[in-house]
Amino acid sequence: MADLPASVVTMIEVPFHQDSQVVRGFIRFSRAIAVLMIAVALVVLAAWWSDARLLTAVVPGQRSMKINTAIGFALSGSALLLSHGSGRLRSRLSLWLSLAVMGIGLATLAEYAWSLDIGIDHWLDDSLARQSDPLSGRMAELVATAFVLLGGLGVLVSARHWPYLREGLAVVLLAIAMTGLASYGFALAGRDSGPFNRVPTYTTLLLLLATLGWIASTPTIGLIRVTTADTLGGAFARRLLLPALLLPVAVAFVFEMLQSRLGLSEALAFSFVALSSGGAVAWLVWWVATLLDMLERQRRKSALLRNDADTDTLTGLANRRAFDDALANLLRGQREHDALFSLLMLDLDRFKSYNDDFGHLAGDEVLRITGHLLGDALRPSDLAARYGGEEFALLLPDTDATQADEVAARILDAFRAFAWPQRAVTVSIGVAQSATNDGATALIRRADAALYDAKHAGRNQAVSATVSLLSASA
Ligand code: GH3
Ligand code: MG
Ligand code: MG
Repeated sequence: MADLPASVVTMIEVPFHQDSQVVRGFIRFSRAIAVLMIAVALVVLAAWWSDARLLTAVVPGQRSMKINTAIGFALSGSALLLSHGSGRLRSRLSLWLSLAVMGIGLATLAEYAWSLDIGIDHWLDDSLARQSDPLSGRMAELVATAFVLLGGLGVLVSARHWPYLREGLAVVLLAIAMTGLASYGFALAGRDSGPFNRVPTYTTLLLLLATLGWIASTPTIGLIRVTTADTLGGAFARRLLLPALLLPVAVAFVFEMLQSRLGLSEALAFSFVALSSGGAVAWLVWWVATLLDMLERQRRKSALLRNDADTDTLTGLANRRAFDDALANLLRGQREHDALFSLLMLDLDRFKSYNDDFGHLAGDEVLRITGHLLGDALRPSDLAARYGGEEFALLLPDTDATQADEVAARILDAFRAFAWPQRAVTVSIGVAQSATNDGATALIRRADAALYDAKHAGRNQAVSATVSLLSASA
């Protein structure tokens, strides 16, 4: 095939294709998270109302979710659910609910920062929680911060503005939630986990899910866009992103559990965790490498097969099929961009008698040598093809008749200069320049007629279909 010019290659845009099934899956996941957020919040509120602690029993050693945390999740979950529908009212409502989530976070942070008492503690006082926590109605600073971010995430998703800020908020939220989850191991081991000490585990878990739910609500834009691509990269991202995200959490968790439950020393637990996390990463790399290796070999195989289908086995030049394709491409270029080109038709002189005198194998050798001579005479962007028997065709992009005559002259000289094995072999050449609205048949016919003229004028020469006639000089 004639190579496409670099300018054309850069013009070709390959569009981004999504796997629509994956996109639908993400949307369903996002909706399910929204429903879960609301459901958990309702359970916590019901338990607070009835003074029973349902959720503390689920996660051992944990305090229960604060009431205003539950309200925050209910609001953010509703905002997420609303953001999925269409219509201005829904998206407006979703935006306001997310603003309210931000408000809860900001009010609590203000209470902490200036030791204010806005009154949330009193309104949402939790008599059971008060036994272990004097600020029974107030969510921890970290949760308040997370709600400011979660509300902001909702606002930016609804407003469809500042995508980078939205991604940034999501990343910080993920970091907070995962650090919280990892620190659950500390809590189980009876150690102080710093700022996370006052954050119940299912609050952090729900925070992680809420963030994933908000990100998944717009799966075709931003950082997670790649996970919906119908490419190999998309498949990798879908399989590996979440495990990679959760690996540090699992590592921290296992590290504490090994010490608290199995009684391993810190050094031993550390070596175990370090080795197994290294092993996990190595396994992932191995898996990706194996898959890439397999695909690359498949790609090379199909390139080889394709090359075979386009190549003439005797001469190594392009075959008739590849010539027809390349000619069609050049004719399209001529029509659309006025990109002229030239066609040279070549026929070996008195080749029948060469075969008769020296045999077909010697004749084949001449055809092979001709292939080399033509290949050497051309630029990389030109195409030399074996058109049939002992006839060859050359396609020269961006070449007018005068330049094509020069190429023909160069080929004639190369034939004359070559030390042929049995006796000198010469060639006759017909040259034709493409014209606007040319068809393949018309162009080939002009080159053929010129070739016929060259034969009749005595062979070993080139004739241009339009103007010049290059006489044999040897
Ligand atoms: P002219 O100068 O008019 O072209 O005379 P010519 O003898 O070359 O006539 P023509 O072009 O018709 O000759 C075609 C010959 O090319 C016939 C055949 O013996 C030979 N030929 C075609 N394909 C092959 C091939 O694959 N191998 C060999 N050895 N010879 C071939
Ligand atoms: Mg012939
Ligand atoms: Mg011939």
